[in-house]
Amino acid sequence: MPTTALYRDDFYLSTCEAVVTAVNEDGSIEFDRTCFYATSGGQPGDTGFLERADGSRITLDVTRHGATKDIILHMPAEGQDLPTAGETIVMHVDWPRRYKLMRMHTACHLLSVVCPFPITGAAVGEDESRVDFDMTETIDRDTVTKDLMRLVSENHPIFVQWITDDELVANPGIVKSKNVRPPVGMGRVSLVCIGEDSAVDSQPCGGTHVSETQEVGAIHIAKIEKKGKENRRFRIRFGTPDALA
Ligand SMILES: [Zn+2]
Repeated sequence: MPTTALYRDDFYLSTCEAVVTAVNEDGSIEFDRTCFYATSGGQPGDTGFLERADGSRITLDVTRHGATKDIILHMPAEGQDLPTAGETIVMHVDWPRRYKLMRMHTACHLLSVVCPFPITGAAVGEDESRVDFDMTETIDRDTVTKDLMRLVSENHPIFVQWITDDELVANPGIVKSKNVRPPVGMGRVSLVCIGEDSAVDSQPCGGTHVSETQEVGAIHIAKIEKKGKENRRFRIRFGTPDALA
């Protein structure tokens, strides 16, 4: 059964009430709606717990899409009790973890502004994220860090604009990723815009992001690796380079 993905319209929603619509054979749970982000586009799905009417908790380990994008499956940790269909529960996202992922994910967008080459891959992590670019140039790590921190401290607003799948197909130029599929298949696509009137950047993305660049906080490029002749892998970490030295 399709699930209403509340996180698509509110990145800061950490808790919500929902009704269990199915408990599948593999133990995965479906709800009428959810605030748990499902693994997609390089951002890992949410973890957290369900609070039942009697106060007991069910820990959730994994959130992912089912056979289609509108199906969202919540996987409980091993040995947990399962709820029953029709039960109303309160969902709680592990917010400290998710907020780090939102900051990191936003940092990846900023890196694509500073380093304007086609993206061939990306993975958002709590402690480190990586973005792969199709580029042959050698670029100075500290210069990239400085440019990133300038965008952070300028505190640009970040907002979402919705376009239809057809509009995206008609404007392929707005997609920066080469091998990463844009988030189509749900009728509408979110454009993540940075800066007043998208002056800094806009990019189709279905992930969750912070609402202004200052929230990203201190980040730096920890490493730039050469992965083949035309591929550079950038690793972003939190904190200042000095703090880790
Ligand atoms: Zn994004």
